[in-house]
Amino acid sequence: MKPTFSIIAPVFNEKDCLATLVQRVGEVMDTTGEPWELVIVDDGSQDGSTDIIRRLAKEDKRVRAVIFARNFGHQIAVTAGMDYSRGDAVIIIDADLQDPPEVMLEMIQRWREGYQVVYGIRSEREGETWFKKTTASLFYRMIARITDIKIPLDTGDFRLMDRSVVKVMNSMREKHRFLRGMSSWVGYRQIGVSYHRAARFAGETKYPLKKMLKLALNAVTSFSYFPLQLATYVGFISAGISIVAIPIVIILRLTGSQAFFGQATTLLAVLFLGGVQLISLGILGEYIGRIYDEVKGRPLYIVSEAPDD
Ligand code: UDP
Ligand code: MG
Repeated sequence: MKPTFSIIAPVFNEKDCLATLVQRVGEVMDTTGEPWELVIVDDGSQDGSTDIIRRLAKEDKRVRAVIFARNFGHQIAVTAGMDYSRGDAVIIIDADLQDPPEVMLEMIQRWREGYQVVYGIRSEREGETWFKKTTASLFYRMIARITDIKIPLDTGDFRLMDRSVVKVMNSMREKHRFLRGMSSWVGYRQIGVSYHRAARFAGETKYPLKKMLKLALNAVTSFSYFPLQLATYVGFISAGISIVAIPIVIILRLTGSQAFFGQATTLLAVLFLGGVQLISLGILGEYIGRIYDEVKGRPLYIVSEAPDD
């Protein structure tokens, strides 16, 4: 039977969270009185999560396991979950139980009222470091400033999406994915629900600084040309400065002044502009690399085991 709700949980080395995840999601979803499925996507776990997921899927037919051939990253794992989901409404939740399953009921309520996207807003975050909270907060504000779409502040991937939204998003096969941006980009009727983000149930974060930076870069490059335009701005500024400076230097020289004498000034100017040019090249490289990834047209992920039905 086709479920009404699909819950998607991406998993990367979460062996101690899985049983509780299935139990708590089950308890909450059973209160809706409608059929549901839990799609667990194993994103190349190395800690034995894979076997646990297989077992959980065998014990409960509503749990469906999608197992990746290797680690493809959180956003791709969620994408796969969306591809395999069948429900009329799809809810993305973290496997570490930082997103309380009870909030799903509130989201479902909103969905029934006619909203197609219901995103969770983290009003408070427990058990996370000062560094993580500050960088996350800066990140959301920077994205809001430089991108054209309105990504609500302090929202993660914990959200409910109607089938119509999922259909559109599944047709967007871009390789470098920033799902919360994409789900905002599609439009439709959207609303947020606030929740307290709990501490991790078990284990450590699977988002080290490197992965966070990668996600931030994907967010910026997927939704903004601003970094590309920076070179133009800096170019105009330095050209403007030189237009003012040239006559000043000529006059100073003609009047026999010793100002701007020596190599230090020259060296500084060369180093500064050299730096700006290299940074601009690097930014160009980021975009070109992404174009290259798109052109190669490789699949987004490789599944080694998929649900039978
Ligand atoms: N995750 C994943 N692949 C990865 C990294 C993380 O599927 O490469 C999953 C992880 O198992 C968890 C969710 O994505 O269910 C969010 O990750 P995490 O809790 O480590 O991030 P944080 O909450 O610390 O930002
Ligand atoms: Mg987490």
